[in-house]
Amino acid sequence: MDRLIVLGTGAASVLHYYNTCFMLQGPQGSLLVDGGGGNGILVQLEKSGIPLASLTDIFVTHEHVDHSLGIIWLVRMVSSLMLREQKSDILRIHCHTRLAEKLRSICQFTLSEKQFSPVGTGIRFMPVKDGEQRSIAGHTVTFFSIHSRKAEQYGFHMESPEGQRIVCTGDEPCSPACGHYLEGADWLFHEAFCLEADAGRFQPHKIGHGTVREAALLARKHRVRNLVLWHTEDRSTYGKRRELYTEEARSVFLGNVHVPDDLDVITL
Ligand SMILES: [Zn+2]
Repeated sequence: MDRLIVLGTGAASVLHYYNTCFMLQGPQGSLLVDGGGGNGILVQLEKSGIPLASLTDIFVTHEHVDHSLGIIWLVRMVSSLMLREQKSDILRIHCHTRLAEKLRSICQFTLSEKQFSPVGTGIRFMPVKDGEQRSIAGHTVTFFSIHSRKAEQYGFHMESPEGQRIVCTGDEPCSPACGHYLEGADWLFHEAFCLEADAGRFQPHKIGHGTVREAALLARKHRVRNLVLWHTEDRSTYGKRRELYTEEARSVFLGNVHVPDDLDVITL
């Protein structure tokens, strides 16, 4: 993939960022990962210059509201395009089996019969199993369970034909059982709820998250080249997050550290 378009960087209850979600773009296509918590996804896509008609593949990590409800809006809007014959490509929504059932049900219960009608034909839920591989935008994508204890959640490992490797572990600290996916990765996308100094205030471990330092130590352990940190709080570090997070991560990790803002574009 050539570009990472960062659509949102916040954790669930932020007010100053959109919830963490992003798009990977390459010469052979794109993959949108998560939808954030509402129709703000439509705003972020428009600001990033990504037409809804161009969406072909979406991966949803898990069911939590800050990741899944934007997907319902995308189904609604893409459905409208399809019904007006303004989108002919199929939209595939990759996610684990139970999440596919839940998303499909929410769509059925909240969209009109007409809006729901392309689901199953033009808009397809594509359930994935732990370790399953799919070819998306010319890349080999392996989806894997992150062994979450909160809600079943999947991450992914993506490899380009040239051998570039991108790993996303969803919105929780990486389980040791998934460490092999990270080993020597070119890019690791990882959550970092808060600075180490704010761990007492935010108690990230109690809510299934971690600190910047912990994410950076993980990247060091697995000899990752580039670390992207997001899914953060917005109360302690808003306005100086990039600087503070980068400083903390660099204190333990010698690779490249990226702390993007919403709508940033990173060349991969
Ligand atoms: Zn989240």
